[in-house]
Amino acid sequence: MKKLENVVPDIYSHLEDLSRGTALPISEEEIDKVVANMKESIMAWASPSKRNRNFTVRMSNIGKPDRQLWFEKRDTDTASDIDGATQIKFLYGHLLEEVVLMLVRMAGHEVTDEQKEVSVDGITGHMDSKINGEVVDVKTASRFAFNKFKEGRLAQDDPFGYLGQLAGYEKAEGTSNGGFLVLNKESGELCMHIPEDLDKPNIESKIGKLIPALDIDTPPELCYSPIEDGKKGNMKLPKGCSWCKYKHQCHSDANDGQGLRVFKYSKGLTYFTKVVVEPKVEEFL
Ligand code: SF4
Repeated sequence: MKKLENVVPDIYSHLEDLSRGTALPISEEEIDKVVANMKESIMAWASPSKRNRNFTVRMSNIGKPDRQLWFEKRDTDTASDIDGATQIKFLYGHLLEEVVLMLVRMAGHEVTDEQKEVSVDGITGHMDSKINGEVVDVKTASRFAFNKFKEGRLAQDDPFGYLGQLAGYEKAEGTSNGGFLVLNKESGELCMHIPEDLDKPNIESKIGKLIPALDIDTPPELCYSPIEDGKKGNMKLPKGCSWCKYKHQCHSDANDGQGLRVFKYSKGLTYFTKVVVEPKVEEFL
C-alpha cells in the first residue's frame, strides 16, 4: 500500500510531467466520475440544510467545544447567517475537493469510501474519503488556514473541531493514521497533515460527557479563557471566542455585567472582557 505521506509529492511529480510535455493519462471513466461527483455536490449544496432547523450532535460538529454546542442547541435563530459570498465559497470548496481527490487517484493512490456514512455511539456522519486505507478529510483553505495545517499547528488552534471529527471517523473505521489533505485556494499548494495520536480527542469519552452536559441548564465551562491585552490589566477574548457566534451571550457578565466591549483596531475588532485602561481606538457601539 502506498504511503499517505507521499500523496502530495506524487501529485506534484505527476503534474510536472505535464509541464515537461507528457500528457496525463486520464481516463474517460475518471472524468465521468469527477463530473458525477461534482453534480452530486452541486445538488447537495443547492438544498437547504435541515441542520439549520434542528440541532443535532453529529460527526461534523462533535469536535467543537462543549459550551459552543450548548449555546447552539438553544439557538432559536434558525435562519442561517451565511451570506451570499460565503455560499459561493462553500460551492467552490466542494467542487475543488472533488478535483483534489481526482489528483490523488491520478497519482496512483487509492481513494475509497467517499461520503461513507459512519457512526460512533449513535453519532453519525459522512467521511470525505479514505486514501490508501486511512481516513482523510479533504479541505480547501485560505493561505492563513492552510499554514496551520502545513506547519502542524492545528492542535493549538482548532476552533471547528476538525481533530474531533477525524477521531470520530477513525473510531468508526478502526483506523488511526489518517489526516487532512488541504488545498491552498490562493496558490494551488497542497499539504497532507497527519496529526499525532495524542492530538486527537478520545471521541467515545467526549461523546459520553457531552451528551448529558447539553441537557443541563447551566452551560459547560468556558471553552477558552480570556487573555491579557498588554500589561495594564485589560483582558480580551482569544481568537477561538472572537469567531464564536455566541460570544455576547456567553460573556454577558464581562466588564462587571456590562458585557463585552468591542474596539476597532486596524486588524479588526477586539472583544474586551475587562477594560482597565481605555484603548486608544474607537469603540464599536
Ligand atoms: S464565546 Fe468562547 S467560551 Fe463562549 S461558547 Fe463561544 S467559544 Fe465557547
